[in-house]
Amino acid sequence: MLYKKLTNIIIDIITVLFPRVCFGCNAHLIRGEELVCTTCRNNLPLTDYSFNEENPVDRIFYGRINIEKASSFLFFSKKGIVQQLIHNLKYRNQEVIGDFLGEWYGQLLKDSKELDGKIDLVIPVPLHSKKLKKRGYNQVSKFAKKLAVYLEADYIDDILVKTANTKTQTKKNRLGRWQQQTSLYALNNPERLTGKNILLVDDVITTGGTMEICAQALSIGIDTKLYITSMAVVP
Ligand SMILES: [Zn+2]
Repeated sequence: MLYKKLTNIIIDIITVLFPRVCFGCNAHLIRGEELVCTTCRNNLPLTDYSFNEENPVDRIFYGRINIEKASSFLFFSKKGIVQQLIHNLKYRNQEVIGDFLGEWYGQLLKDSKELDGKIDLVIPVPLHSKKLKKRGYNQVSKFAKKLAVYLEADYIDDILVKTANTKTQTKKNRLGRWQQQTSLYALNNPERLTGKNILLVDDVITTGGTMEICAQALSIGIDTKLYITSMAVVP
């Protein structure tokens, strides 16, 4: 009893000294709130895009790569909640945000049944091994793993690998960028992709450049079908 009281007092002191804040807006979290405050939760800009209907994410890839369908969970805007969440996920060791977003999106996909039975493998856009070592984790992993659970698919992160540690160039023209980058990604044991339906997952889709070259690499697989999604898309 005394022990429990002391523990509560210590927790209260820690809360006062190190208040838990919302990863979306830095507001102090109140009891019952986890990671993100109620206001941010209610204001999370869901795209409501479907894998069953044509949507603006599809259009990003028209004429560029052969995919079945593309979609995205949230809208990304500069200085918005989503940017804050992804910044915390990528640069502040808050991998738990990947779980949070993956849980939400996975549940939505499951409820909508739009990908029911359509996905065999969920593959995250990989980091180069040096970058992975530096950050300690791939920021897409937890999110993609949750999607795999909800879609009853396998999560595979050892087929598609990044072979050069360079930043994705977004300024060059599309062709130049493509020629320069097709060699940035490679496949390990590509025969494992044969006949599989793949969901390729990234954090943010901006120009679609990274997805395009990863999709090119994956298209080496025989008789594969490719779907694309991300935590967020720049509208
Ligand atoms: Zn908030």
